[in-house]
Amino acid sequence: MTVELMWLWILLGYVAVSSVLYFICRMKCKKDPIFKAPKSRAVYYILSFTWGLPTVLVGAVAALFIRLMGYRPRRYGWEWCFEIPGISWGMELGLFFISPAGDFDSIKMHEQGHGIQNIYLGVFYPTVVLIPSAVRFWYRFIRKKIGKPCRTAYSDIWFEASADKSGKTFIDICRKTLDSGNIDDL
Ligand SMILES: [Zn+2]
Repeated sequence: MTVELMWLWILLGYVAVSSVLYFICRMKCKKDPIFKAPKSRAVYYILSFTWGLPTVLVGAVAALFIRLMGYRPRRYGWEWCFEIPGISWGMELGLFFISPAGDFDSIKMHEQGHGIQNIYLGVFYPTVVLIPSAVRFWYRFIRKKIGKPCRTAYSDIWFEASADKSGKTFIDICRKTLDSGNIDDL
């Protein structure tokens, strides 16, 4: 087999597995949209830096640029959050996310929820969640800008509903177990 043919098979396999995962998650999340955070913080980081590494690497580069722009990250859950004044949305890239400045807890919980999805979906996370989520976000953003309101709510799709639930469930548990040192700063 030539090298080109091998790469084509790898690519086709990747697309096939991503598609199957997307539909399995969609079916599973209709009933129970929760990806549970592991009990151990170490497991969370081991999975983030191995299986979930592609998104974490992109997030680390983005975080470096945001840091160079003068914003300081703070801990939120098991992630690092950059609060950016003037935005009304958030975005998560494996272990790092941006959110509006101030008391926007539901956005921060949601972004932590995407981080939990990343440790489960790993190398498939970009095609199963990240890219569909970004495309949908900008599609809705542009529709609103041109005066065509969206007929669905933001969390009407499985990966957003799942991020809401996973993040909230996890942060609620962290807050109840503050003494155990699971969470440094909320
Ligand atoms: Zn989201």
